[in-house]
Amino acid sequence: MDSHPAWRVALLDLDGTLCLGTHAIPGAPAFVERLRRRGMQPVFFTNNATRTPDEVSAMLRACGIACTAEEVCTAAQAAAHVLAKQFERGACVAYIGMNGLRQALEVAGLMPIAMDDAAEAQRRVRAAVMGLDRAVTYPKLAWFCRHVERLGAYVLTNGDLRVPMEDGFVPGNGAIGKLVTATTGIEPYVAGKPNKAFVRFALQRFGASEAEAVLVGDNLATDIAAGRSAGVYTIWVGTGVTAAPAVDETGVVTPDARCDSVADLFR
Ligand SMILES: [Mg+2]
Repeated sequence: MDSHPAWRVALLDLDGTLCLGTHAIPGAPAFVERLRRRGMQPVFFTNNATRTPDEVSAMLRACGIACTAEEVCTAAQAAAHVLAKQFERGACVAYIGMNGLRQALEVAGLMPIAMDDAAEAQRRVRAAVMGLDRAVTYPKLAWFCRHVERLGAYVLTNGDLRVPMEDGFVPGNGAIGKLVTATTGIEPYVAGKPNKAFVRFALQRFGASEAEAVLVGDNLATDIAAGRSAGVYTIWVGTGVTAAPAVDETGVVTPDARCDSVADLFR
């Protein structure tokens, strides 16, 4: 299919759309180049909150996809943005997560607090946020749950239940969030896809309206749902986690267009 002349920004999912693990999907580097030649701004729009924008862009460049850190928009940034709007500068935020989330909180002017920080810092915690932490432990979860119960709220960077890997899958941040919710009885605010606020956050950064954007992704429940609810044209690609949307079992999310791979798009 071809692009629409109104589109200035392309929100591109990463895993299952442009890459699989740390390998580019065939044709993805050339697809991103085609976007640029047509004057469209690619935005690398990911629910993965573990990596910093620098780490994401380095990973994409290693796959052959031209990318700068400024073009990366992560669910960790969206979560930090939500908290920075709600709390004053320097507010202490208890977090479970990796580099991507810690740095996003710092850049947003918040003070990330971990389990090992001093009791005085723990007493000043105003909010709690969780992203995927591949070194999460039972003591860390217990510590986090106590903050969540006291605060009565928490933020999840993203609610993905499982993360596809080259050799199968691993539990995602949403699955670990289920543990926190089961323990505390408190439901999270989910900052990443399918939250339309994440789409708006990305578009605002690049000064584009919904009508000037297109979203490309492989996951009906996150990518396509986010685009549809934000009012952005959505294209589903068949290289990732969700089976072809010919039959929509949920009855809710149908992409505006579909194709086998980004290799076929905008040629
Ligand atoms: Mg994906």
